[in-house]
Amino acid sequence: VIDLGSAQPEEHPGRVVVVGGGILGTWHALEAVRRGWEVVHLERDQRPQSASARNFGLIWVSGRAPGRELVLALRARAKWEELAADCPEMGFRAAGSLTVATGDEEWAALEAAVKLDDADVRQFALVNAVEARRLSPALGQAVVGCLYCRADALVEPRTAVARIQRWLEHRSPRYHWLPGREVTSLSGERVVDHTGDIHGADLVVFCPGASDGGLAREILAGAPLQRVALQMFETAPYPLTVGPAIANADSLRYYPAFAGGPRSLLTPATEESDRWRTQLLVTQRLDGSLTIGDTHRYDEPPAFDYDSRPEAWFVAAADAVTARPVPPVARRWIGVYHQCTDDRVYLRTAPDPGLVVVAGAGGRGMTLSPAIAEETFGLIEPQRKEG
Ligand SMILES: Cc1cc2nc3c(=O)[nH]c(=O)nc-3n(C[C@H](O)[C@H](O)[C@H](O)COP(=O)(O)OP(=O)(O)OC[C@H]3O[C@@H](n4cnc5c(N)ncnc54)[C@H](O)[C@@H]3O)c2cc1C
Repeated sequence: VIDLGSAQPEEHPGRVVVVGGGILGTWHALEAVRRGWEVVHLERDQRPQSASARNFGLIWVSGRAPGRELVLALRARAKWEELAADCPEMGFRAAGSLTVATGDEEWAALEAAVKLDDADVRQFALVNAVEARRLSPALGQAVVGCLYCRADALVEPRTAVARIQRWLEHRSPRYHWLPGREVTSLSGERVVDHTGDIHGADLVVFCPGASDGGLAREILAGAPLQRVALQMFETAPYPLTVGPAIANADSLRYYPAFAGGPRSLLTPATEESDRWRTQLLVTQRLDGSLTIGDTHRYDEPPAFDYDSRPEAWFVAAADAVTARPVPPVARRWIGVYHQCTDDRVYLRTAPDPGLVVVAGAGGRGMTLSPAIAEETFGLIEPQRKEG
């Protein structure tokens, strides 16, 4: 259970203004409240609707790169579960994931995955077809076995961020959520929003996501970041229980955990999959619908229009591993995130004393945010005490 109330007034470190109400800003706000800060949280939109509301909701440990990225993911996974005990409304499920093999070659790649040095900390296990269908009644007869990752988990992305914010408002008088405020200028001491309101601060944390205009453009100019645009869709409710998140073997081509042995055992991706940088991921929402994706495009500027051509690939790929056909598509969308162009897991800069900018968590930002926020305050607080 997360303790938000124990810091006594004389211990309060000051007032932090967090700008950006996506998952990264929200976990920074939560971490700050937990450490005794007074928190003013500003967001341009009335409710979160950027990448943090458009993703799969996967708390995805299985595919993370070995080393620092995996350590962060495991720490973050623990913090998600800790919060879920107090804030069940965000829809956290320790559902795990199943990466599916439909033939000998894919099965050999999964066998190589369970032999990775860090397979134990990822909680990997191989399961045969019978066991896989017991874990996920949605899997069809074509599945010969799966890589089961017990560490993976799910939240409801459309609502999780807002639910955490409501929970913070409810639980702490030191948290002040101010949506519908676009910040137009900031320094380490003051933040000005579009209404002209000035918010004094002892510390400012700016988590702008992949915004390409306004203040983010100015502050992140020249930063080693690139935008990636992804397409996903959601179906009508599926008649069976999916349980764990489902991935097909193409995901081994994509996630860094499998870069060595496992990936080398797969034949090259099909031309279509390569063109759209597709991997099949399927998660079931609490209302029974399926979120299916995703494609990856690196064009700059990102396309504004949804391209329906890869959709047939996804439906065929999902139908190939599921027991019943994928229901009709109900909604489609594009989401954009920033990722670092160097080997950093994410970007943290301090362009001004008292101002910290955190961005570029890439396709793992939903997963890693709790651990990133903990790192930010773990670095800042000792510096401030010394200063
Ligand atoms: C389609 C898709 C699928 C994904 N799937 C997963 C997944 O399953 N698991 C995973 O771990 N990650 C996933 N990701 C990545 C993850 O969603 C992102 O890394 C994460 O949401 C980024 O969070 P953020 O808070 O940095 O950015 P955002 O969610 O973009 O939030 C930034 C916020 O800052 C606000 N803002 C910007 N400038 C200002 C300003 N000047 N004033 C006020 N407000 C401002 C914006 O309005 C926005 O709400 C996925 C991403 C996409 C696009």
